[in-house]
Amino acid sequence: MSTRSEELLARARVLAVTELAALGREAEATSIVSDAWWQRLADTGLLRLTLPTKWGGEGLSLAEYFPILEVCAPVHGAIRMIVHGANGTWRALDRFGTDQQKAKLMPGLATGSYLGFCISEPRTGSGEDIGTTAVRSENGWILNGAKQWATLASKAQLIYIPAKARSASGEDLGITTFMVDPNGPGITRKHMAHTMGCKGLDHDVMFFDDAVVPHDRILGEIGGGLDVALRGFLDPSRLSIAASCVGLAQGALDQALEFSTRRTTFQKPISSRQYIQGRLADMATDIAAARALVMHTATAFDRGDEIIQEAAMCKYFGLEMVGRVTDHSIRVHGGVGYTSAYPIEQMYRDARGMWFEEGTAEVQKSVISRQAISKWVPTLPAEFYGPNPGPDSDEYAVLAD
Ligand SMILES: Cc1cc2nc3c(=O)[nH]c(=O)nc-3n(C[C@H](O)[C@H](O)[C@H](O)COP(=O)(O)OP(=O)(O)OC[C@H]3O[C@@H](n4cnc5c(N)ncnc54)[C@H](O)[C@@H]3O)c2cc1C
Repeated sequence: MSTRSEELLARARVLAVTELAALGREAEATSIVSDAWWQRLADTGLLRLTLPTKWGGEGLSLAEYFPILEVCAPVHGAIRMIVHGANGTWRALDRFGTDQQKAKLMPGLATGSYLGFCISEPRTGSGEDIGTTAVRSENGWILNGAKQWATLASKAQLIYIPAKARSASGEDLGITTFMVDPNGPGITRKHMAHTMGCKGLDHDVMFFDDAVVPHDRILGEIGGGLDVALRGFLDPSRLSIAASCVGLAQGALDQALEFSTRRTTFQKPISSRQYIQGRLADMATDIAAARALVMHTATAFDRGDEIIQEAAMCKYFGLEMVGRVTDHSIRVHGGVGYTSAYPIEQMYRDARGMWFEEGTAEVQKSVISRQAISKWVPTLPAEFYGPNPGPDSDEYAVLAD
C-alpha cells in the first residue's frame, strides 16, 4: 500500500465513527438521502478514491481501495452502496468512452456527480435478456420499454442503459449501451417500494416512451453494449460487492465478539461456551477466506488480468459468507440482536441487499461453471486417470475381471 492510501484508510476509520456514523443514523431515521446529505458524503472524498488522478481523483488501485470500502460497509448500507457505486461506474466511461465524453463527464465525478447503471427489467431476465429497444432516427435514438432497480436515478447525471438497438428499417444492431439523462424527455420514473435495508437509497422503475437519446450518448460500439456492461462495469463491480460483504461481515463479527465477552449467563461470559466459540470461529474463518479471495482477485485486476470467473467466484462466496456470518452474529446476540438497539439488526438487513446487487448466486454460479467448462485443462496428463470409456462407449462401468 502507498503512504497516501494508508493515510486515506486511517482517515476513513476516523470518519466511520464521526461523519459517516452521523450520515448513517440520518439515512436510517429518515429513509431519505437528500442533496445536502449527498454533498456531505462527497465532501469526505470517499467518492473519488479510485477515480484517476488526471480527473481529480485519488487513483487508488482496487487492492488499496478495498480496505477503505471495508471500513465503510458496516457503518450503513446506503453509504456503502454509494461509495461502491461512485468508485466503480466511471470505469465503463474510462474504458469505452470517447475523449469528448470523458472530458465532459469525468471531472464532475471528483466533486460528487454520479453515473448510474441499469440493466434490470421488470419483464425479462438478467444479462442479454433485454426488452428495451432503441431505434435509430435522424434526431437520435428512440427508446421504448422499462427498466427497474435504477438505483439513485434521482441523483444520477446520466445512467448507462443497455438496450436492443435497431436501424430505422428494423435491422437488429445488437445490444448497445446509452448514457441516458434520467430527467430527459419521454422518461418517467416511479420510486420502487421500500427495501428491507440500505435505507435512504431510492430505486426507480424507469419508463421509456419514445424517449430521444442524442447520437453522442452511445457508450462504446453499436452492438457492443454487453461488453460495456460486463467487462466495463460488472466484473470489477462484482468484486467490489464481495469486498463490501467482507467489510460488513467483519463488522458483524466485531459486534459478536464485543457482545459475547460482556454478556454473562450462569456467571460466565457466553464467549466461554463452546457453542458460541464455534460460531465465532466459523465467522472468523469465513471472513478470512473471503478476504483472501477478494484481495487475490483485486491484485490480478490491478495488473490488468481479465477476472470474469474470479469476480463471479468472489461475489458468490462473498454473498453466501455474509449471509452465514450475519446469521451467526445475530444469534450470538440473543433476542436483543433482533432489536434496533444493537447495530447487528441493521447490518443483518443491509447485508441481504448484496445477495442481489450485480447478480444473484445462481447467476454467478452459471458464470463460474461456463468459464470452468470452456477453459478446462486437465491438471494431470490423461493417462493418470486410466482408461475412460466415455459416454458414447459400448463399455459398461463394470468391475474389471
Ligand atoms: C438493493 C438493490 C440494488 C440494485 N441496484 C441495481 C442497479 O443499480 N442496476 C440494476 O440494473 N439492477 C439493480 N438491482 C437489481 C439486481 O441486479 C437484480 O435484482 C438481480 O440481478 C436479480 O434479478 P431479478 O431481481 O430480476 O431476479 P430474477 O431474474 O427474477 O430471479 C429470481 C430468482 O430466479 C433465479 N433465476 C433467474 N433466472 C435464472 C436462470 N436462468 N437460471 C437459474 N436461476 C435463475 C434468480 O437467481 C433468483 O433466485 C438491484 C437490486 C437490489 C436488491
